[in-house]
Amino acid sequence: MDSNCIFCKIVNGEIPARFAHRDDRVVAISDVNPQAPTHLLVMPVAHHANIGELSDAADRALTAELFAVASRLGREHGPDGYRLVMNTGADGGQTVDHLHVHVLAGRQMSWPPG
Ligand code: AMP
Ligand code: ZN
Repeated sequence: MDSNCIFCKIVNGEIPARFAHRDDRVVAISDVNPQAPTHLLVMPVAHHANIGELSDAADRALTAELFAVASRLGREHGPDGYRLVMNTGADGGQTVDHLHVHVLAGRQMSWPPG
């Protein structure tokens, strides 16, 4: 846990959120500023800043667990398709340094992203 991290505080119940999934290792919440009819954030309970840091860690299975939850939620909310996004670092547009997968669904997505 990083005591300055807003997502650690959500995972620990210090800040309220709407949970779409919760198990011992992975949670999913609704984004407060949704960019699509469905906009969820799937994140590990443990604090990892980004996918590179998680990949460097010993817990490789956690990456698979995150994507299993993200793809299940994507399929449920976007039967005709969905988008998974991991903004990483400043150039990637990451604003919260606790790894999370955006699950976007419910509208036609465009490409390229901004
Ligand atoms: P990123 O910019 O990729 O790091 O994504 C961070 C996301 O977290 C943004 O889409 C924000 O809208 C969202 N966010 C920030 N604070 C909260 C919060 N308290 N509850 C839910 N989502 C949040
Ligand atoms: Zn954190």
